[in-house]
Amino acid sequence: MNLRNCKSCGKIFNYVPGLPPICPACKQELENKFKEVKLYIREHKGVSITEVAEACNVDPHQIKQWLRDDRLEVTDDSPLLLNCEGCGARIRSGRFCDKCKASMTNSFNSIVNSHKAAQTPQTNGKKSESKMRFLDN
Ligand SMILES: [Zn+2]
Ligand SMILES: [Zn+2]
Repeated sequence: MNLRNCKSCGKIFNYVPGLPPICPACKQELENKFKEVKLYIREHKGVSITEVAEACNVDPHQIKQWLRDDRLEVTDDSPLLLNCEGCGARIRSGRFCDKCKASMTNSFNSIVNSHKAAQTPQTNGKKSESKMRFLDN
């Protein structure tokens, strides 16, 4: 038994590790809200997160969470689009746009690279050699 207080209503319930800390009743309620929100967005094209939150009485953060989880369908010109946390570009789901995701992978590689270079002091000639090899990969 793994008892916890529900994050939403405070009731004690049997917590399943790995799942959100909310009780089955609140989970069901949230699921109903999700359906309501989804329907509202479908019927009211062009609504903003704030409008949906007010109309359906849902926390705007929850709506963003659903968007991040890619559970809500939005069009490319919808005000419901999220902003990339890196550059602010409009994205439909997740936290970063494709560009930022790509540059994050690149900067991760260069961090690994510079780390390697710092660990093994080399002459200039050898350094560029290892860079070339990296690019070939
Ligand atoms: Zn609850
Ligand atoms: Zn971005």
